[in-house]
Amino acid sequence: MPIFEFSCKACGHVFEKLQLAGREDEIKCPKCGHTDVEKKISAPFLPSSVGRPADSASTGAPKSDSGSSGGCNSGG
Ligand SMILES: [Zn+2]
Repeated sequence: MPIFEFSCKACGHVFEKLQLAGREDEIKCPKCGHTDVEKKISAPFLPSSVGRPADSASTGAPKSDSGSSGGCNSGG
């Protein structure tokens, strides 16, 4: 959720407030009630990379079961 950090210019109290997109309500300081607050530019959430690279560990060697076929010469 879009939670922004605000810093009150009056008392200096720092608080977080949820601000929805397109709804810029008047932010009030919960401590002193002053409306002169400053939005702090901070990214609480890290930009996670989308689409991880495939696992290229296995070597390109198709597993085949055709190896030891009939024809076993048994001494006799
Ligand atoms: Zn304040």
